[in-house]
Amino acid sequence: MDSFNRELHVRSLLAMLEDMPSGYQEQENHRLTLAYFAISGLDILNALDQVDAKKVTNWVYHLQILPSDKEDKNGFFYGFQGSSAHILKDMDGVNFNNGGHLASTYSALSILRIMGDDLAQLDKKILLKSMKNLQQFDGSFTPLHTGAETDLRFVFCAAAICFMLNDWSGMDMHKALGYILSCQSYDGGFGLSPGLESHGLHVDPNALASILENRGNATLCLLLLKCLMQVASSSSAERNWSTYSFIYSVKRNRLGAKRAEDLLYVQSYLRLLSHKDPKYNVGETRNWDLAPECADLDATVGQLAQVSIEEAATELERDLASGSDIPFDSGSIDAGFEPLDDLGLGLYGGATYCAIATLKLMGYITDDPVSKRPTSSIVDLSSVVEWSLQKQTLDGGFQGRSNKASDTCYSFWVGGSLKLLGAHDFYDWEALRCFLFTCQSKYGGFSKWPAMFPDLYHSYYGLCGFSLLEEPELAPLCYELGITQKAALYSQITKGIC
Ligand SMILES: [Zn+2]
Repeated sequence: MDSFNRELHVRSLLAMLEDMPSGYQEQENHRLTLAYFAISGLDILNALDQVDAKKVTNWVYHLQILPSDKEDKNGFFYGFQGSSAHILKDMDGVNFNNGGHLASTYSALSILRIMGDDLAQLDKKILLKSMKNLQQFDGSFTPLHTGAETDLRFVFCAAAICFMLNDWSGMDMHKALGYILSCQSYDGGFGLSPGLESHGLHVDPNALASILENRGNATLCLLLLKCLMQVASSSSAERNWSTYSFIYSVKRNRLGAKRAEDLLYVQSYLRLLSHKDPKYNVGETRNWDLAPECADLDATVGQLAQVSIEEAATELERDLASGSDIPFDSGSIDAGFEPLDDLGLGLYGGATYCAIATLKLMGYITDDPVSKRPTSSIVDLSSVVEWSLQKQTLDGGFQGRSNKASDTCYSFWVGGSLKLLGAHDFYDWEALRCFLFTCQSKYGGFSKWPAMFPDLYHSYYGLCGFSLLEEPELAPLCYELGITQKAALYSQITKGIC
């Protein structure tokens, strides 16, 4: 389909708003965020007149958490919970469960703004005051008062909430700024937390390997585990993949480059030789070089050390010859990654976008910064622009990180970042448009990859991508907030700013 089909997209989002397919049951916790995708998508499509505004705002407000008299208010977060499934009432009909979540609260406020609500029913004071409880000592945010992962996604949510309420008392901006800056990687992009690869989905290697192991090739799973356990940030990549940093440490910085390289050669040679020694496999010297600081290596580490790509390939060829299922057909890749969404990992995945958008919301990045004074910016702008531009691949789409396939949602995560940085004209618009058309479904909506079934998440970001490319039928976006300019402007008017 090589033309933009507005009517089909409107129909599909309205259907999702009314009655979601059963496949979304397990994402009930994120219902507010799913509703945000549908409603904000309809706003981009200029189709809000087909949504019952009162019904939607009443539903959103019933998910607001307010303190009860019985509650210990210290440490709780009084925002919004993702769905009514979190509401648990006692004998007196009082909700005793606090499922307030930062992402749900961001989604709730976005929906209310999109619907033109004046936020009169919102207890802003308690929301912002209690949100401070979620900020960690390093400046990051956890999404729940009970604790969970902390990373840039939730710093972005907290900043967007403060911005929409025009009140930054809900966070320590200075600490948050320090955290964001610590997430920029050596290559210019941002990881979700300090030390992670740029963009950096925070994958639990064990969880992913157990998913894939059930699908067949055990050696391939071990190889995957081996690769994923290497943290690919600059410092740890040096540490994991090279012995140079082991030889040339801060303590030994008087070594000349030539002497350091010679020592490196000797160390590597001795290490390889020791692998041939029978003592390498037994006793105290077993696998001595795998984890020098860990004297007590368990069997798993040894097993991982032995696995090689040749072994995995041989096993795969054997499976193919015997006619058994290939674990990596397109269907099983998709199904294999679905559980990540359960952990909230599929949502707000663009770490670089989260960093740049948050800096913009906080006022640390001006409009069109690249053409102004890139060298005096608070972040290394030229390297983040270069990293982002390199994410456009040969098929025209954007990839989330190096060596990954293009994916519809990154047209917004990466394209939106480039827009915020003032580098919107530096990539190939027409190629991106062609890629997005290959992901447009004949049923309406967009899929992650070409010629697959659409889903709500990628449908929303496909629309954002087309808005970015100035499709005539679509409303322009406020990129730092993730809603239309109209909705963002309305929030400014109600705050009395303009
Ligand atoms: Zn995606």
